[in-house]
This record gives sequence, C-alpha cells and structure tokens, in this order.
Amino acid sequence: MNVGALLSVKGHDVVTTLPHRTVAEAAELLALKGIGAVVVCGADGGVAGIISERDIVRAISNGGASALADPVSRHMTAKVVTTVPASSLEQLMEMMTKHRFRHVPVVEGGRLTGLVSIGDVVKWHVEEIETEHRAMREYIAHT
Ligand code: AMP
Repeated sequence: MNVGALLSVKGHDVVTTLPHRTVAEAAELLALKGIGAVVVCGADGGVAGIISERDIVRAISNGGASALADPVSRHMTAKVVTTVPASSLEQLMEMMTKHRFRHVPVVEGGRLTGLVSIGDVVKWHVEEIETEHRAMREYIAHT
C-alpha cells in the first residue's frame, strides 16, 4: 500500500494554522481536533513549518506560560520533511523512525494534500498482519 491509497481511505483534510497565530491557539486546535501536530502554512499556502505537542511542551518548559502568547513561527520546525502519494508505507515508517517524528505532511505538485501520522501507519500495519493471519488460517484449514 502507498501513501496515496492510505489517504483515499483516511481523507485529505489537514488541520493547518498560520505562522503569526499564537502557541495557545495551536494548542487549542490540537485539543479540539484530538491530534498531535498542525501544519503551518505560509501566505502562498505552501508548507512553512509544523508544530507538534512536543514543541509546545518544550516551549512552555523553556519559557513558562508566557510562551503560549508567542507566535507559532518561533517554536515550529521550519525544515519540514514531507512525502508524496507514491511513497510506500514501508518507506514512510523508515522515515518516521530515522527522524524520530510522528507526523509527515503529504505534498503533491507543491500542494499539501494530506498528513499521515504514526497512528495511521500503525493502524494499517495491524490490519495487514490480521489479513495475513486470516489468509494463513484459511489456507491451513483447507489443506
Ligand atoms: P512529533 O513526533 O511529530 O510530535 O514531532 C517531534 C518533533 O519533530 C517536533 O519538534 C516537530 O516539530 C518535529 N516534526 C514533526 N513532524 C515533522 C516533519 N514531518 N518534518 C520535520 N519535523 C517534524
């Protein structure tokens, strides 16, 4: 299965914010949507960064509660690693493991077209293992 196929099941919605929004607003979005990261989009609509719950925890740990009033751009990761729909989920898992992050935006033709989280990948992996087990049980039962 590739990233594009996963997105066609999961959907293409991505929760985004803008660089000048506050960290408190980003935290509110994470809580409201039940997610772990938001993609930060620039004025041109392109990916300008990503801010995850880890960045927010670090910002508060370093700067105290006043960090909540800081702009997202101060605490986001600006060098975002993205993937494309044609990438395999195995490649994506490798990427997440290597870089130690849990969210990867999907970009196609310069446009943000989805986001895959580690939870999506684990869900797919578990389903794949279950399908293999079922096929194996059926094979054994019929031989
Ligand atoms: P996460 O594990 O996704 O909560 O993120 C851990 C750290 O990696 C945080 O500093 C994020 O801003 C950063 N991060 C998350 N996803 C990406 C990504 N796709 N590219 C670059 N950095 C990322």
